[in-house]
Parts: sequence; structure tokens; C-alpha cells
Amino acid sequence: MNKLPVVLLSLILTFFLLNNSFAQNDNANYIIVIHGGAGFMNEMMPESEKAVYYTALEEALNIGKTILENNGSSLDAVEKVVRFLEDHPGFNAGKGAVYTSEGKHELDASIMFGKDLSCGAVAGVTIIKNPISLARLVMEKTPHVLFAGTGADELGKKFGVELVENSYFDTEKAYQEYLRSKENVKGTVGCVALDKFGNISAATSTGGRTNKMPGRVGDSPLVNAGTYANNNTCGVSATGWGELFIRNTVAFNISALMEYKGYTLQQACDEMIRNRLPEGTGGVIAVDKNGNYYFSFNTKSMLRGVATSSGIFETKIWHDR
Ligand code: ASP
Repeated sequence: MNKLPVVLLSLILTFFLLNNSFAQNDNANYIIVIHGGAGFMNEMMPESEKAVYYTALEEALNIGKTILENNGSSLDAVEKVVRFLEDHPGFNAGKGAVYTSEGKHELDASIMFGKDLSCGAVAGVTIIKNPISLARLVMEKTPHVLFAGTGADELGKKFGVELVENSYFDTEKAYQEYLRSKENVKGTVGCVALDKFGNISAATSTGGRTNKMPGRVGDSPLVNAGTYANNNTCGVSATGWGELFIRNTVAFNISALMEYKGYTLQQACDEMIRNRLPEGTGGVIAVDKNGNYYFSFNTKSMLRGVATSSGIFETKIWHDR
């Protein structure tokens, strides 16, 4: 029998396998991306104000990078990074959350672990200092996925998480937005990471939309809409007009386009954000299983950053800077 076809076939196979593994090696073995909300930030804003955001994003990235560098899990990285951004008054999450139409704060958050699709979320909490950590407790310590309102606040008490008065979330900037019934200027926060063990996690936290009706829940605490992570495809955290992200199941659809249609991360994100959503409605940050990352947004700005094991460390607000 002529062995030539077999030899040729194995050569071709070896070539592809090697090439593939080179491609893998080119990519980072850990990666973290963050966002601080999509919107319409004015490029003419004072340099000092820009510096506050860039510095916060850099500090957040460094928290996540240190965890991942030291063999930590992506789940710890995304939780700690989002906690930091919740504690920062410059963002619409935790301290700094926007006001409801009744002048109070109702906070939403979710977290997901791509290894086994486990996830946890809280919606409409009012006294939980760090909603993302309560979301993680929901995921790890209860048989459920989503707790809302007083039940979620009570669960926080039961787990002994740090509680605050609702007025703790007050900030002057969010109050001015509320008084003027203005669009959110401050942004929701989110983080997606791939660790050295190939596990992808995603987390999102928000105060919602300025002047929202009491009880309104957006996309951020909804796995599949505002947050998604799956080791077979990618992790996603969204920001923007929540109702549209819910209707279009944005975060899950990005993963589904990759899994079912073979889209690249970039194609999948752009399909949802640029082709399906109307202009000016939001964006996503995403990481795939091969260590690629991508930011897609159809607004003027999206506060964002990336850090990778291959040495990329970058923060940006507008499309080019
Ligand atoms: N997506 C958030 C919500 O609708 C708000 C935002 O990201 O700006 O609650």
C-alpha cells in the first residue's frame, strides 16, 4: 500500500497542531479587562478629572493583575477588582451609585464562573456595601442564583457582610444628575478575567439608571444579559441601557455566536453591539478562552482597561485614548 497519503496527512496534521500551539503561546496566559461604564464623557473635561478615572482604572487593574500573577483565580480577581470600583465614589456602583426617582439607591450585581457556569446575583439591594461580594455568596453558599430586594438585604445580614445606611451611597455628582434628570455620567463597573488555569470569570455591578423607578432591575444582575462566562467560549461584562441588553440577551449571545457560528470574539461582540443595538446605547468588555480580549461600544466613551501576562497594560476612555 502506498504510504504517501498517510505520511502527508500526518505532516499536515502536525503542522496545524504546532501552529495552533504557537498561536496559544503567543497569547497571554492570564488577562484581565475592566470597564467603568459606557456613555458620553466630554473630551474637554479638566485634566484633573480625567486623571481621577485613569488612576482608578490603573489601580483596579493592578489589584487584578497581582492576584492573577500569583496564581490566583479569575473569580477572586473579578470580585476584588469590582469591590475596589464599588468603593470608589467616581463610579455608578457601590459608593457613588445613582439615585432612583425617589432619591434612594438600589444596587444590582452579578458574578459568573466559566468553569461550571455557576453564578450568583443580587438586585435592588439597599444596605449592602459591596453587592458583588454578596452575589458571590449567593453563588457559593446558596442553591439559588438571584436574590432581590429585602430578601437580598436580609441574606446579606445573615452572611455577615458589611452593611451601611442607604445614605452611605450618596455623592454630590450623582445627586446633581438626579436633580437635573440627566443621563448617567458616572458608569457601571465590570471585570472579566482569564486565569493561568484557563478559568474565565465575569462580574458586573451598578446603581442602575438615574431616576429609575423604584424596583426597576436592569441587565447588570442578570446573567446572560449583563454578565456571562463560559470556559468554552468567553467572558463578558456589559454596560449601557439595560432594557436593551436584556431584550437582546447580549452577553450570552456573544458566547453563542462563538460557539454555534464560529465567530471570533471581536466579530461576536461587534455583531451584538454595533449591528443589533442602536447607536449610543452601550458596550461590552470581553475575554476569550485563548486569551484574546476585545472592547466594543457604540457610545462616545467607555472607561476601560486591560492587563495581560504578556505585558500589555492600558487604560482608555474614548475610542482612541
Ligand atoms: N446597564 C446598567 C443598567 O441598565 C446601567 C449602565 O451600565 O450604565 O442598570
